[in-house]
Amino acid sequence: MKIEGSKLVDSVIFAEFCSFFILMHYSQIINELAEDREQYFNAVSPPIVQTSNFAFNDFASLRSAFEDEMSDYLYTRGMNPTVDILRKKLAALDEAEDALVLNSGASAIFCAVMSNVQAGDHIISVHKPYTWAWKLFDNVLTRYNVSTTYVDGTDIANFEAALQPTTKVIYLESPNSLTFELQDLEAIARLAKSRGIVTIIDNSYCTPIFQKPHRFGIDLCLQSATKYIGGHSDTVAGVLTGSKAMIKQIFDREAHNTGAFTSPFNAWLLLRGLRTLPIRLKQSAESTQKVVSFFKNHPKIEKVYFPLDPDFPQYELAKKQMMGASGLLTVAIKAESHAQIERFTFDLNHFLLAVSWGGHESLVLPKCAGLHPEEFDPNQQEHRLIRFYIGLEEADFLIDDLAQALDKL
Ligand SMILES: *Cc1c(COP(=O)(O)O)cnc(C)c1O
Repeated sequence: MKIEGSKLVDSVIFAEFCSFFILMHYSQIINELAEDREQYFNAVSPPIVQTSNFAFNDFASLRSAFEDEMSDYLYTRGMNPTVDILRKKLAALDEAEDALVLNSGASAIFCAVMSNVQAGDHIISVHKPYTWAWKLFDNVLTRYNVSTTYVDGTDIANFEAALQPTTKVIYLESPNSLTFELQDLEAIARLAKSRGIVTIIDNSYCTPIFQKPHRFGIDLCLQSATKYIGGHSDTVAGVLTGSKAMIKQIFDREAHNTGAFTSPFNAWLLLRGLRTLPIRLKQSAESTQKVVSFFKNHPKIEKVYFPLDPDFPQYELAKKQMMGASGLLTVAIKAESHAQIERFTFDLNHFLLAVSWGGHESLVLPKCAGLHPEEFDPNQQEHRLIRFYIGLEEADFLIDDLAQALDKL
C-alpha cells in the first residue's frame, strides 16, 4: 500500500478504506491516474474517442463484453475510453471504489435515488434540497407510492423522529447552496447503517477536494460536475460514487435505462477542467474570504451566510467535516423593495445575473428574482437574500465593484 500526501490522509476513519484501494495524493490522481499514453501515441492530452461502437475479433471476446459490460468497451452508452479515464480519477478523488460520470447532476440524483427505492418505500430528505431532488420526490416518486419526509437536517433528532419501518433512503445536501445548513454526516451514517438505510449526499458545494463524505460512512456521493469540475461554464455533467456493488447496479439499471452517461467530448472537457480544479478552488476560496470580510463590515449588509465564517451557527461542524469552502456566499441586504434589489444587481459591472456557479466568472442571484414585485415583503429576510458566486477574478476587482454598487443603494 502506498500513501502519499498529508492533508488527504489525516483521518482515522480513513484507515478503513486502505484495504480497498491505493490512496493517492490528489495531484497524482488528477495528473497521472488512468492515463495510459502508450495506448494513444504518447499524446499528453487523452484523445476524445468519438465512437458509438467497438468491434471484436472473435465471439469469445464479444460474449465476455455482453456478460460484463462495465469491464469492457462494447457501446458508448455504457463504457467509453475517454469517459473511463475521468471515471477512475473521480472515484479516486472521492475515495470511493467506483464512479459513474453522468450527463447531469440531476441524472446523478435520479439514478442514485431510483436505484434504492421501490413502491411503498419512504425517504427522509433534508428540507429544501436542490430543485430536481425535491421535484423527483414530490412529482415523480409520489406516482409510484414512494413518500418523502423533509426534515431540518441540522439536528440528528429530526432524522430519528422521521424514521419509519419503510425508510430506505436518507437524502442529504451538506452544505446546501443558499444558506449552507450542514448535516452531521458521521452521526447520520451511523444511524442509517444500524437500520440498513442507504445514505446519499449531494456534495456539489464542496467537491471531493473540500469534503469526502465516504470517509464518514455515506454510501453514495454525487455532485454536479457542471459546477467546479467543469469549471468553465461550458458543459453539463454529474458524478456519482460509491461501492462497486452499488455503482454496478446503477450502471446495469437506472443509468442504462435512461441513457444517462456523459459523452466522450463532455468527458474530455471535464478532464481538462479537472486539471485545474484544486488551483481554481484555492483562488476562489481565498477571494471569497476577502469578500465575506468586506460584507461583514458593510452597513448595508444585515447578515452574511458562509459556512467557514466563525459566526456561522454550524462553524464547528463545518471545520470538522470540510477541508475548505467554495466560492458561494449569501447576504441579507438592507433593501426596502424588489426594485432596489434589481437596481443593485444592474449596478454591478462584474457580476453576471445567472444561476449555476463554479465557472471562471462571478455571478449574482437574488432570491427575489423568482418573485413578482408585489409578492416582495421586506420584513421577510429570505426575500432580501442575494447569493454571490466568486469566480477567478482578483478579490480587489470584485470588492471595488460591490462597494460602488452598495454606495448607490
Ligand atoms: C447544479 C446543481 C445540481 C444539478 O446539477 P446539474 O449538473 O445542473 O444537473 C445539483 N445539486 C446542486 C447543489 C447544484 O448546485
